[in-house]
Amino acid sequence: MNIYPKSRRVGESLFFWKTRLFLPGWQTLPAPRVVWVLLLLAASSNPDLLRADGFPASDIQAVSADLIGPKDASGAAQPAAGRLECRSDFENGSGLVEAIDQERGLIRIRPTEHKDHGWTCWWFVHVTGVQPGQVITLEVTGGLGDWGKPDRASFSLDGKTWQHTAPGERHKDRIVYQQKINGPEAYFAWGPPFRLSDAERLLTEAAQKAPWVQKFELCRSREGRSVPALRIAEPGLPDSERFGVWVIARQHAWETGSSWVAWGLIDWLLSDEPAAGELRKKAALNIVPIMDVDNVCRGAGGKEQKPQDHNRDWSSQPHWAEVQAVQSAIRQWDEQGRMDLLLDLHNPGRGDRQPFFFIPPEEVLKEPGRRNIVRFLEAAKAEITQPMRLAEKPRTAGVKYDPRWDRMSKSWVVLHCRPHVAALCLETPWETPESTIDGYMAVGRSLGRAIARYFQQNPRTGP
Ligand SMILES: [Zn+2]
Repeated sequence: MNIYPKSRRVGESLFFWKTRLFLPGWQTLPAPRVVWVLLLLAASSNPDLLRADGFPASDIQAVSADLIGPKDASGAAQPAAGRLECRSDFENGSGLVEAIDQERGLIRIRPTEHKDHGWTCWWFVHVTGVQPGQVITLEVTGGLGDWGKPDRASFSLDGKTWQHTAPGERHKDRIVYQQKINGPEAYFAWGPPFRLSDAERLLTEAAQKAPWVQKFELCRSREGRSVPALRIAEPGLPDSERFGVWVIARQHAWETGSSWVAWGLIDWLLSDEPAAGELRKKAALNIVPIMDVDNVCRGAGGKEQKPQDHNRDWSSQPHWAEVQAVQSAIRQWDEQGRMDLLLDLHNPGRGDRQPFFFIPPEEVLKEPGRRNIVRFLEAAKAEITQPMRLAEKPRTAGVKYDPRWDRMSKSWVVLHCRPHVAALCLETPWETPESTIDGYMAVGRSLGRAIARYFQQNPRTGP
């Protein structure tokens, strides 16, 4: 039995969780980590101190690794092969270890609960001490119903390349995955992770490709993190004639697939495909691959968090800095007549096996916006075909879907922008064999082709 998770929960329940310490050259440390620092300092002068509290040495090591390199667990010291250990104390990590059976190679976890930070459904753990060739049995229990129990888990030997496990065996309260691991360590996750550090790295690489690709800071999150975004606008049409596009992903932190769709879109936009070249010369595209960076870093679900869900925050006084920043940029563009399209990327419910769009309720759409949404759906239907085919029909997110429908991104855009502006939400399924990095990126590339097809006509004037 690994007792580290218990200690983590104690840390999280401390009333001063929100107190933060600022150290020059360090990232902001939440107060419980400060406690760990003090305990570690004490432990270094008296190694028996922590053990007297029941902390095995390996757990001390795990905690100190988190403090030194919270962005990358792979940099942490590795315990000797042969003794399985499982941890989640790194960026985007989640998972409380309930049991480890060394004999059977079995690890039982449940998604870490983060009070007030949304659904308990995301998990992402690092397993070390694997005998190369050993079959690891991972049991996932707890969390919010089946939301945290996909048919197939994702696993990786290096934290970079991710594959699906075989479908797990479903029981009443848990799902059991089995995977042979040809290496001394492995990562297991609900889906292929896309962390804030991935966004930083990928957008930095993208911005090095051409001077007209610019990485910028959308805003600082409420917890002080930089929210990265990318602007793509190749010299061509003057700004006043350029079509304005905003694409946002991951308003819900657990929906990792939506960030990979955004990355597929960026990858296509920067490709040699002629349609991509034409589009980036006549449009300015702003893309935010992760909106809720704080919950992504924490490893929380984000959906239905307190005081409100990111996608119920699109009011005149948004609580979340990311929502406020996108709103004010869209408003500014709209005032200048430069806003044309918002796409908001998500992952849907378990039962949805085809990508589909949510559109604003028909009664709030004006012409030519209504016609433009129909035209965008036709373009998307023609392009989103492989490996996932767009569903026949869109769904409407009106008052029947949620009484707070008018506080959702696409509703806010059509209610506040010029009548031609289109806004849609794309839901890409996570519970299919194609719900991998490659599959999600393929949807993103198809989405790029759909945007290009849509702007073959001028949405401001119609045909
Ligand atoms: Zn969502």
